[in-house]
Amino acid sequence: MSECLFCKIVSRTIPAALVYEDELVVAFNDINPQAPTHVLVIPRKHAASIAELQDSDGGLLGHLMLAGNKIAKLKGIADTGYRFVVNTGAHGGQSVFHLHLHVLGGRHLAWPPG
Ligand code: 5GP
Ligand code: ZN
Repeated sequence: MSECLFCKIVSRTIPAALVYEDELVVAFNDINPQAPTHVLVIPRKHAASIAELQDSDGGLLGHLMLAGNKIAKLKGIADTGYRFVVNTGAHGGQSVFHLHLHVLGGRHLAWPPG
């Protein structure tokens, strides 16, 4: 997936402000933050969206969300609260087709989304 923007962040071909990484995921600040904390957590392995994951990917998916919890603690928003978002497909508002978990916090987030 040499043309994928987020694969290029994983391989450090293009820079990003990394906030966390481990053997399965990389996390970095969103370039266009929608909240005081806005971090993207992505699997190192390319998947276009959550829709293409299989039952066998359950461990990876759990790891992605648990990494989100770690990032919330690192960023100091664990106590005030935060939101995980996985935009999927056209109606879901997905714009980058490498699976990513948005971790948003640091302000009150409206519900429902527009
Ligand atoms: P989506 O709309 O697909 O759910 O989210 C894609 C996110 O990636 C957007 O919030 C957008 O600001 C972020 N983004 C797009 N290009 C880059 C980039 O080159 N670097 C970083 N750090 N974030 C990016
Ligand atoms: Zn990719």
